Amino acid sequence: MVDLRDIVRPAPSVLAIAPTYRCTASCKECCFRCSPKVEKVLETDKILNYIDEAVGAFPSIKVVVLTGGECFLIASELPQIIARIKSYNLISRVVSNGFWATSYDAAVKKLTPLVEAGLTEINISTGDNHQEYVPFENVVNGFKAAYDLGIRSMAVSVESPPNAKFTSETIKNHPFLSSLLDDGTLYLLDAAWMRFSTGDNVYEGAKSFLIENFDTHKPCKNIYDNIVINPYSQLLACCGLSVEYNKYLKLGEIGNNNSISDLYYSQFSDLFKFWLHVDGPAVIYDKIAEIRGMEKKSFPHECQYCIELVSDKDNHEIIRELLKTELPSILFRHSLRQASFKFTK
Ligand code: SF4
Ligand code: SF4
Repeated sequence: MVDLRDIVRPAPSVLAIAPTYRCTASCKECCFRCSPKVEKVLETDKILNYIDEAVGAFPSIKVVVLTGGECFLIASELPQIIARIKSYNLISRVVSNGFWATSYDAAVKKLTPLVEAGLTEINISTGDNHQEYVPFENVVNGFKAAYDLGIRSMAVSVESPPNAKFTSETIKNHPFLSSLLDDGTLYLLDAAWMRFSTGDNVYEGAKSFLIENFDTHKPCKNIYDNIVINPYSQLLACCGLSVEYNKYLKLGEIGNNNSISDLYYSQFSDLFKFWLHVDGPAVIYDKIAEIRGMEKKSFPHECQYCIELVSDKDNHEIIRELLKTELPSILFRHSLRQASFKFTK
């Protein structure tokens, strides 16, 4: 069996835990189909154990992200989880839709115990889908409160499909948020927004918009760098938008003799994941489309190329065959990248 560990020399930097896929919102295009109807919530003891285990096995971890779903639905548990992350001197990040920031005072009240426990970063997502459930004012309240409580690392993620009504221009023109952008406290992320609500996964008019706005043909930076745990105690190979629909990226359930490191290292016998790491799914997809003589589709996000590659079963044998001939050049590109990385470090 192949073992690519010596070649990749993995050093994952991100541990992401989704305590639940329950959410106060039910965004039409939510990648994990989160909604108030989802019930499963990961027990806090398990979350604390997973943090201990992952940090013990991977000293390269720098940041622990609490995501979802909506991680503020377990707000009363967050301080002890954040305190555990702080005990390892790691960065802690919460990702939220800001539903709790109904006023500045409410936001201060909710964030204070988290900041006292050691919270270092906050990400809030917004956009047309989100604003059907959470007004933009909440986002502003959340960031104002975080700033006043001393948080200096924030990100706002804005849904960016073609023809969006709410765009990042509103953030850039907002008197308070623009000042955070100017001083580098706030990072603005135009998030490519995949379509999950219909079989027609490409937005109308998307092709030219995509070419202008998103670089999808690039190596996957997440695979090998992320250790991701979902609410069902499954270890995932990445936190990509389509990961929950891709059985090849589900590494297995933690427990029953499967440690986090066993599951994480199991991916290094899979050449396809290595190819994703080196070239990314869009480059692989284009190659396969050429071989099959198909018209190449354009997708809004690299994760959509990823799911397209595996969901069309006719691609599997072609990928297997291609890997036999492509492997030397994939290895070569990987070694070049490693060398240039060392050079520029
Ligand atoms: S707020 Fe986020 S997690 Fe919740 S439904 Fe919307 S996209 Fe999904
Ligand atoms: S491209 Fe594939 S492997 Fe990479 S983050 Fe997206 S779903 Fe995960």
